[in-house]
Amino acid sequence: MTKIEKTEAEWRQELTPEQFRVLREKGTEAPFTGEYDHVFEPGTYRCAGCGAELFAADAKYDSGCGWPAFSAPAEGTAVDEEVDTSHGMIRTEVLCAACGGHLGHVFPDGPAPTGLRYCINSAALQHQKG
Ligand SMILES: [Zn+2]
Repeated sequence: MTKIEKTEAEWRQELTPEQFRVLREKGTEAPFTGEYDHVFEPGTYRCAGCGAELFAADAKYDSGCGWPAFSAPAEGTAVDEEVDTSHGMIRTEVLCAACGGHLGHVFPDGPAPTGLRYCINSAALQHQKG
């Protein structure tokens, strides 16, 4: 997959301030405020930065954590994972494999069969019905 490279100025122009803060500055939206926290409609969740398909609505579940939660990415190659040691914690950061945008973190307390909880900012996602 080709990496999408854009300058900070280009991203700033294309994204809303909240999308820019999350995707490009690794920000986190306030819990229980995101557009998709309680959306459970069929379809696909795409990257708000580049449109890449990231998560299927089938994988979304109500974790009660305050952010959209998914048990698995759409494809194994859709997201990249990196160790994140910021804020005095060791977490696994989830990034869009296509544009490198910050999506959220993945935790090992999700439902079977993956046991994973992809905790993703609504601002990093765009829901596509279908
Ligand atoms: Zn992307």
